[in-house]
Amino acid sequence: MAGLKKNACAFCGQYKPMMFEGMGGTLICSDCIQAAALMVETDQATPSQAKMPAMKSVPKPAEIKAFLDQYVIGQDEAKKTLSVAVYNHYKRLNQSMDDEVEIEKSNIILVGRTGTGKTLLARTIAKMLQVPFAQVDATVLTQAGYVGEDVESLLSRLLQVCNFDVKQAERGVVFIDEIDKIARKGDNPSITRDVSGEGVQQALLKLLEGSIVNVPPEGGRKHPEQKFMQVNTHNILFICGGAFDGIERLIGQRLNTQMIGFEAQQSTKKLDKNNLLKYIAPQDLKAFGLIPEIVGRLPILTYLNPLDKTALRSILTEPKNALVKQYTKLLAMDGVELSFTDEALDYIVDKAMEYKLGARGLRALCEAIMMDVMFDVPSNHTDHYEVTLDFCKAQIAKADMMKLSASA
Ligand code: ADP
Repeated sequence: MAGLKKNACAFCGQYKPMMFEGMGGTLICSDCIQAAALMVETDQATPSQAKMPAMKSVPKPAEIKAFLDQYVIGQDEAKKTLSVAVYNHYKRLNQSMDDEVEIEKSNIILVGRTGTGKTLLARTIAKMLQVPFAQVDATVLTQAGYVGEDVESLLSRLLQVCNFDVKQAERGVVFIDEIDKIARKGDNPSITRDVSGEGVQQALLKLLEGSIVNVPPEGGRKHPEQKFMQVNTHNILFICGGAFDGIERLIGQRLNTQMIGFEAQQSTKKLDKNNLLKYIAPQDLKAFGLIPEIVGRLPILTYLNPLDKTALRSILTEPKNALVKQYTKLLAMDGVELSFTDEALDYIVDKAMEYKLGARGLRALCEAIMMDVMFDVPSNHTDHYEVTLDFCKAQIAKADMMKLSASA
């Protein structure tokens, strides 16, 4: 305490209106008490949040899949692969540093048409793991020096989601959508400057493999005066998704070549020509234009099936937060019991199929149908409302299908 000014706070050295005296006459001001309390609070919160869960508290793959089943219809193959990958991810996080066999990071790539549930799967996994989740679109990313966002901005979103708590962010899940849009265009990358292609893939590589990255907290383009936050991506699970339009052709070509090579074995196996995605292999991603290093950093590759009529019908009613359940809940809050006839639900699905709106379109269709109900029913003093086929037809006839298609 040498040099301490008399009656000053022993911690900040200032005179404050409210001081507390400890044993031996040491003083502490109210501001320092508050600051210390905050430090204790965060210190208590941080280690436990940042600590990896013990292996026995991590849900088993079958439990992870059962959780996904509550929210995502079908897509069994993808769910199974994801469940095992996430489970292994936790095993890896629990591995001791001196283990000779190092388990590699199991970043995941989901290939499937748009609206088949790729984002939903990634989001649901994050919900289950109770870790921060950020979804980012690869299309906004460009190579350093070009207009667009730096690759590091992927992590800005993650930091923003967890209030800039770096420890939390470092165990989060990042879903990079439309990864196919940064594929190298054409076979010869030197002919044109491939602004959104190979350069971005190279930059992304660093993040995927696990390194300490300078992240601009506000995202966007980095500039010299900016303050950065350092984020270690070693334990961040990256899930990439993309539609990879046209990749079926590349899969088909590869399979054909293989068929010639292994004719005797393959000809006995019947190929499902309607869903070639199920045969997707890493070399197809390379043929599409992802650089081999990126493909190597996304070792878990799985696919999503296109949604058929039965799947769409289930999506309407079955998931935990299915659209029908949501409307029922909304009206229940007005004391109105809502129901849909089977024909009405079938009609909504038929329209989604007819206009190729997919699962996303179901919401737009339901909104068009339910708008008048939600407007009128709360003031009508009824206690039950049934949505019928005729009512749906009338509402859809009034709706602007062009607008609906655009919003899906
Ligand atoms: P993608 O990322 O593949 O383009 P999304 O996961 O964003 O598709 O799906 C769009 C919406 O469609 C989701 O929010 C969800 O409501 C619905 N959806 C799509 N696929 C499924 C599915 N398999 N099960 C349940 N809902 C689904």
